[in-house]
Amino acid sequence: MEPTNCHIHKLHTGGVANPNEYAELARMFLRPSEFELDVSGPPPEEDREEIKRRLYRELSRMTGRHPVWGTLTGVKPLKLFSALAEKTGGAGAAKRKLRDEYYVSPEKLCLLEQTWRVGREVLRHPPQGAVSVYVGIPFCPSRCAYCSFVSGPYEEKSAARYLDALHREIAFVAEQMDALGLYAESIYVGGGTPTALNAQALERLLHTLTGCLPTAERAEYTVEAGRPDTLTDEMCDLLAACGAGRISINPQTMRDATLARIGRRHDAAMTGKAFEAARKAGLPLINADIIAGLPGEDASDFAYTLDAILALKPENITVHTLSVKKGSNFREADEELCYNIEGSALRMLDGLPERLRGKGFRPYYLYRQKQTVDNLENVGYALPGAECVYNMRIMEEKQTVIAMGAGGSSKVFFPQENRIERIFNVSDHALYAARIGEMIERKRIGLFGALRGCARPR
Ligand code: SF4
Repeated sequence: MEPTNCHIHKLHTGGVANPNEYAELARMFLRPSEFELDVSGPPPEEDREEIKRRLYRELSRMTGRHPVWGTLTGVKPLKLFSALAEKTGGAGAAKRKLRDEYYVSPEKLCLLEQTWRVGREVLRHPPQGAVSVYVGIPFCPSRCAYCSFVSGPYEEKSAARYLDALHREIAFVAEQMDALGLYAESIYVGGGTPTALNAQALERLLHTLTGCLPTAERAEYTVEAGRPDTLTDEMCDLLAACGAGRISINPQTMRDATLARIGRRHDAAMTGKAFEAARKAGLPLINADIIAGLPGEDASDFAYTLDAILALKPENITVHTLSVKKGSNFREADEELCYNIEGSALRMLDGLPERLRGKGFRPYYLYRQKQTVDNLENVGYALPGAECVYNMRIMEEKQTVIAMGAGGSSKVFFPQENRIERIFNVSDHALYAARIGEMIERKRIGLFGALRGCARPR
């Protein structure tokens, strides 16, 4: 590696076909404007992982930084840990390999091991025929400054067109599942903000899902309520009456000034009221999402949010690290926001697993996203027995997922080959509604066609 001028460093990889993961690794140390990858020359003799180790060591020497996830650039470190533990005969060997060959920090190894152990305790092998079902509602009351999803503002007419198409897709999926002897082990209605729909439309959708789809007797049924301002007493009663067993109320922060800054239309008091309404309606499991690394906040703000959330007694807390992706208002306003607030998320998350453990929470699923502040992770914590099976299955990737609605990414799991194949719906809700026939055909051929060919659909 050599500086090409006073700012830009040239990182040599040799002639590699796909330099993206090396660039991703370099971005953990340097701003994109500070480096260039040199992929000239013959193909390197080192393998991929060796190149990454060499880059990591060189970049660490140069910047003094030691990203805690080492050379891991993928989004599913838990899946890798699990595979290594299975292959090498236990957590100890998996940890050694991740420490020595991927440079993962001791603190993240400990988090991985705890999460993996909870998964082993809670998650059984998926029963034959059991699948996960996801339904996306791409509407929200307003747009969050960090949002990079293709969700739109709620508007009655486009929502009605969208729901008509979605009901067609649900009817088709139900018929195919029936024919193949498949059933939903879990149903997850996410978004967007499903509770941004009008009560009548949401009630029809939730009843249709449980009424039409073949479903396990005690299937997990989650509805993301997302925005606390959508959770009135009536909405909570409706969710309970429709059989939702788990909802997500996502305050993100309990600082009102930050909420206004990030484009949410609620304050901390509304989060408290939403919890009250949900409890009154008898909704048994509540998850609360919070975000570390929000601009303008420091470790004391994050600690304040955590205390305020713990006081509401959720059964799950999902701690995200801010991800500043293309398409978000944050990214448009400041291309290098992640770098400009560097260190903030690390300080906020310092000691968090121990703090939550003291309150009875255990980490049960974990994933990473690109472009996160300090390259940190997202972790779901749960009280024992309150883990979300859907979230765990998604991370494990050992079960077929049927995803409906705009942006749905279905996955067929081939157990014999231990691999998945994805089938996508278009992301834009208006296009989805206009092209619903094509979305159904994609499922007929790519998803159910493949499942028919599987010796043991799972
Ligand atoms: S609630 Fe989620 S989907 Fe909706 S705007 Fe915010 S980040 Fe995007």
